This record gives sequence, C-alpha cells and structure tokens, in this order.
Amino acid sequence: MATTRDYYEVLQVERTASGDEIKRSYRKLAMRYHPDRNPDDQEAEAKFREAAEAYEVLSDEGKRRKYDQFGHAGLNGQAGHDFSHMNAQDIFSMFDDIFGGAFGGGRSRGGRSRQARGYDLETVTTITLKDVLTGVEQDIEFTRQDTCTTCSGTGGKPGTEPTACVTCGGAGQVQQQGFGGMFRMVQTCPACAGAGKSYREKCADCGGDGRKPKQVKLGVKVPAGIHDGQAIRVPGEGEPGRHTAAGAGPRGDLHVVVRVQQHDLFTREDDHLVLRMPISFGQAALGATLSIPTLEGDHELTIKPGTQHGDLFRIKSAGLPNLRSGRRGDLIVAVLLEVPKKLNAKQKELLRAYTETEEHQDMPTHKGFWEKIKDYIG
Ligand SMILES: [Zn+2]
Ligand SMILES: [Zn+2]
Repeated sequence: MATTRDYYEVLQVERTASGDEIKRSYRKLAMRYHPDRNPDDQEAEAKFREAAEAYEVLSDEGKRRKYDQFGHAGLNGQAGHDFSHMNAQDIFSMFDDIFGGAFGGGRSRGGRSRQARGYDLETVTTITLKDVLTGVEQDIEFTRQDTCTTCSGTGGKPGTEPTACVTCGGAGQVQQQGFGGMFRMVQTCPACAGAGKSYREKCADCGGDGRKPKQVKLGVKVPAGIHDGQAIRVPGEGEPGRHTAAGAGPRGDLHVVVRVQQHDLFTREDDHLVLRMPISFGQAALGATLSIPTLEGDHELTIKPGTQHGDLFRIKSAGLPNLRSGRRGDLIVAVLLEVPKKLNAKQKELLRAYTETEEHQDMPTHKGFWEKIKDYIG
C-alpha cells in the first residue's frame, strides 16, 4: 500500500528543500528505521518503506513537479515501485548511490557463502605476420597468485587441524556495527570466509593466505588467421578460487591478447595483404615481369605494357588464412610509379629524344585533365 501522507512531511523537509537536503533527510530516516536496527518492529518497517516511497518521488524532478501541482493524484499511481512488497535490502540496493554501497545492496546476506571463482588474468603476446599465416605455439610467461603447495591452499600449518574460527566463533558470520553503531549488519566472516573453521597455526610459506605468487610458463596455441587485438581464452589458467565454506572455488581463466607486429612490406586488409610495389616508368610503359615478395618467398608477376600508377594486381591465395574457414585471402600488389631523381647525361639525351616523339593523345588521362583545367579557369 502506498502512503497517503504528504511526502514532504514523511521526509521531514520543507517544500522548498533542495535535492541534497532531501537526500540527507532520507538517509537519516532510512538508517533510523532500517529493519536490521528494529527487528520485528512493524511500525519502523512501515516508516522505512514510506520514506523510500517519498524519496523516490521527491528525488525525481519530473515526479516532484507533478506531486507539487496535483499531490498524490498527480502521480496517478505511478509513484514507481510498490515498496510494500520489497525487503529492506532490495530498497537499499535501489538507492545504492546515496548509501555508497555501505549496505552491500543486492548481495545476499546471512553468510550464504558461494564458491568463489578465481580471478581471470590477462596477458599479452606479440607475433609476426608470418605467424598469422602458419599459426604458432607461443610460450607465455606470467606471474599469478597460485595455490600454496605447502598447505594445499588451506593456509594452515601442515599437519595441524582447523579449529572453530576465533573471529566468528564457528558461525561463519559476524555482526558488524555500521554508521557509527547505528546499525547491526550480518556479514560473512572475513577471517574464515564463512567456513567457520580456521587454523591456529598459519602456513609459514604463504602466511596463512593459502596462495603465493608463482611464475608460470605456458605453451599457448595461436591459430592461423588471428587478428591483432583478439584474445585467446585459456580456461582454468587464471587465479585459483578462494577456499570458502563450500570448498575451493573454480579457477579463473587466462586471456592471452595477441598483438600482431607491423610488417615492413605488407599491410593487412582482413585476410588480404596489400603490397606497394615501386616500378619505373620504363617497366610501366613497356610491361615487365617483376619478382614480388610474398610471405612465402618470391612470386613472379607480369605487368602489362601501359600499366598506370596505382594499378592493382592480384596474386590469388597469397594472403592470410581466414581464422574460421582457413581459406586464404589474396595478395594485392599496388604499383607505384617512381620517377628517377637523378639522370646521367646519356639518360637525359634519350629521354629528350623520347619526349620529342611523345603523342599526348596516347596518355589515358591527358585529355580529361586539360578539359578539367579549362572548365576550372572558365
Ligand atoms: Zn601455505
Ligand atoms: Zn570465522
């Protein structure tokens, strides 16, 4: 049941109160009436819900404006959540921002310890473009927190038995005072992680932590066709799970991020490779057979007479394999026409003789070029 009381009255603020004042007042009331602090007190619980409802409306600019104009009727039953069916913890998790997560909003309470899965780890390995072609087995070295072999992760001195946890007296839970003693909160015991048992004598090797940093070396298969920035997941090679009441949790995973080194000659376009191949004017004009580098050695490529700057040639299946299908991409050769920066006397003489014979209409873009210039000048 939604309240019919005035929301400003509920929150004990003026109608002109700022957002901050409303928030502060709600926080105060919520702490006062929180059911954890007032066990089996129906009235406190009702006040707690009422305050949450009022806060939800007055903290929302649009809803507050409607409420100011038309009162409860203005909200048309859309006060939002029906707080009467929510438990205190759910209400707190809704307003987690104002409590700063102090109540562990949303998390299960009462020491229901789940198996705690270990953390995932991430590491980086760098391969060459040629490795992308063939696939490669990389040696990955990294440090991770690993189960202490001396105590098998229990944290206790080997040969000793665990006894009831001194922190929680074996209950697996502790009560904590929150907000300067205004609250009583039940939490999983931090000393035994809810197990209720602990070792009086700690393992000397890990100091009772149950884990130690360990240098790990792993062979990881990097598949052909992998792209820069993709990661390979190695299940179970992350950190070990925590020992809790439910036993040791499963290990996390290792994520190996693959970086592909830039190649001096080839640029990657998906599974294709692009090569910029400089050729001379003579080769372009007369046609030539060129020796083209590929990732697997040289390849002969014939270019036709009259090849233009920027013309593309395709060497089928000389690219990279597709990660999924394995089908090879192509090698695309883009020719760059180069002009010599220096000529000797003989070459100059020959080029002058050639230039005198030049027929401009044989140049493929010549005509269009001059027409464009004339158009531009008007
Ligand atoms: Zn140990
Ligand atoms: Zn304990």
